[in-house]
Amino acid sequence: MTDQNHLRPLIAANWKMHGDMSWIEKLYEFEDIFPAAERVNIDILICPPAPLIFPMMERCGGKDIWLGAQNCHADENGAHTGDLSAEMLESVGADYVIVGHSERRALGETDADVYAKAKACARAELIPIICVGESLAQREAGQALSVVEAQITGSVPEIADYVIAYEPVWAIGTGKVPTLKDIADMHAAIRAQLGPDIRILYGGSVKPANADGILSVPHVNGALIGGAGLQMESLATIARFAVERK
Ligand code: PEP
Repeated sequence: MTDQNHLRPLIAANWKMHGDMSWIEKLYEFEDIFPAAERVNIDILICPPAPLIFPMMERCGGKDIWLGAQNCHADENGAHTGDLSAEMLESVGADYVIVGHSERRALGETDADVYAKAKACARAELIPIICVGESLAQREAGQALSVVEAQITGSVPEIADYVIAYEPVWAIGTGKVPTLKDIADMHAAIRAQLGPDIRILYGGSVKPANADGILSVPHVNGALIGGAGLQMESLATIARFAVERK
């Protein structure tokens, strides 16, 4: 279980299905570019493919770079070939788990599934990053706020510690981002729904070129980053904006 101040900025890199054992070197690279003194006022999280969590945990040692998984099963154990429980992920060094990413929702994961996974994370003393976000059709139909509100109602269990990642589906990996006003309206609505204590990340095509503006928006407490999180220079640049803007 992590012990950081919950409204410290959180910059999370989701490596998705990229990387191999040689990518552990990226931790050294990141530590060189963004040294410990710069990490005092920010939480940096890397979510590598699951096989890399343990070797990266051994490398992180003192744990001032957090590690996370990209998914988990809701059960603690059982006949679920190929799945990983939150407890297993905790035992190899994970601190966080991304749940309900749109790439998993696209495979059929429902709000009820995400709710159960988030609860499993709490059971294992891990912090879930619960992803929500509207499709382009929903945004164009003026339904973005109501869709996300309903996803949160269905996906967030009553647990002490969690993070929300607002990730418009149409912005993920596309280079498209909502206007800063649309991000501000969404984050204000989520804040109103969940109260003052929950970190709310924005995710969807965050890059060094747009991070300063996005991270300056009220109630944006950090970012969930896909593509740009594979390059340590980009990750460090985005993290620096997060420290400066909060
Ligand atoms: C993501 O997959 O969560 C994501 C935000 O990806 P990207 O930054 O590449 O849009």
